[in-house]
Amino acid sequence: MPRLGSLALRFALCALLVGLACSRAPAKRPNLVLVVIDTLRADRMALYGHDQPNTPALEAWAKGGTVWDTCYAPAPWTVPSMSMLMSGRQVMRRVGFSDADRVPLAEHLAKHGYRCGAVVANALLRAQNGWNRGFESYVQDDGTRQKTFDDGWPGAEVVAKGLQWLDGRGEQPFFLYLHLLDPHHPYKPYAQPGGPEFKPKRTIERRERFRSILPEARRAQLSDDAYLGIEQRIAAYDSEIFEADQALAQLFAYLDKANLSEDTLVVVTSDHGECLWEREAPKTQRGRGLSHFPQLFSGHGEVVYEELLRVPLLMRGPGVPAGARAKQHASLLDIVPTVLSLLDVPTLGRSDGRVLDPRAADVPPERVAYFTHTCALTENGRWKLHLGKGRREAKELFPPELYDLVSDPHERAPIADPARISAMQARLEQWMVEWDDKAAPLNEQDRAAMRALGYLGQDERGDGMGAEPDED
Ligand SMILES: [Zn+2]
Repeated sequence: MPRLGSLALRFALCALLVGLACSRAPAKRPNLVLVVIDTLRADRMALYGHDQPNTPALEAWAKGGTVWDTCYAPAPWTVPSMSMLMSGRQVMRRVGFSDADRVPLAEHLAKHGYRCGAVVANALLRAQNGWNRGFESYVQDDGTRQKTFDDGWPGAEVVAKGLQWLDGRGEQPFFLYLHLLDPHHPYKPYAQPGGPEFKPKRTIERRERFRSILPEARRAQLSDDAYLGIEQRIAAYDSEIFEADQALAQLFAYLDKANLSEDTLVVVTSDHGECLWEREAPKTQRGRGLSHFPQLFSGHGEVVYEELLRVPLLMRGPGVPAGARAKQHASLLDIVPTVLSLLDVPTLGRSDGRVLDPRAADVPPERVAYFTHTCALTENGRWKLHLGKGRREAKELFPPELYDLVSDPHERAPIADPARISAMQARLEQWMVEWDDKAAPLNEQDRAAMRALGYLGQDERGDGMGAEPDED
């Protein structure tokens, strides 16, 4: 029956072609939710091995996705870090979003048919500075009613406002960006009826560890009361991570209930970590009054030690393996290229990040981090050189420090290796020239917002937390 055979073959071919045509029809792209929990250092989360039960919702949710064991922020402060996260572009100076050539993720997604909404609890990411580019809705706690961060929106309110926006979504794919602020200082104890308690851990051994950071002559300054204050604040920091975690439980429940979980890529990360009295305050920070014991450093900015750069990175959704722990070293710069690849949206032009591969385990040969007066280069995830930059005095205040992150992951004992130091110093200086970027000076509105958030000191010169651009 050759004729029938050939007819059947033709039918089969037609069906195949129709099938191919169908599979080529543009399917609706996945949605995207980006959650940034400000000031969240990875090693203080139970999800990353911390001994306090502060991330139950994230742990349960992450079982359906991938957790990157190692992710770095490229700067220890919100503004530069978010600029690099949202654009995938490396800079070596603090910048806003006003630069015409730095297209933020939302603007790019909007061009590709996404409806974009944001709820931002950090008053520094101001719409007026271009942080709202691409968002049809950019709801922000502008800091005007804040005396301190305590009066800002809690995570639950940020999530609720985000879900309210999602309620009105149409048929188009959406990008929702939520910026939570709970763990940011000042640390305020959070408690939930029937929930875990986060009590100060007070031991002689721990007190001696804090004292040992101070020079011998100043150790007596850390009285028992001052020490208790440190432990209380650290416990409160842990509890505020739990506060953010519980707010996200509401987001995850909403996505499930609305049948959106399968079609939505969710990314959870932070803009930078936090130092919790674990090292002496940098000379430029002393006496700035952000801490009740300012001889030891608490907060973020200025220096680029690991506790200020290691942040969580979690992804779940279409194309992301479930239940995986990725060993590859990631950076916030990688988020834009990775997300665009997973959403099947064209790339954003030049990018300094890469598409992450959850199955890979490679470590970038070079990684840099910077702030106003300091910067660091890490080679192969091992050798890390810190260097003063900018003003001549800053260079004198921050002499080169070299660490071996493999044997000394907390950067306690600098290594004397002049040959390596000078080779890395030359390379880092080359980086700074290559990636130099002119920062726009702050206007009075920015300064008022920063003052409200506790960043500017009494003198308001703002040279500690990077309120002013370098003048060198
Ligand atoms: Zn921040």
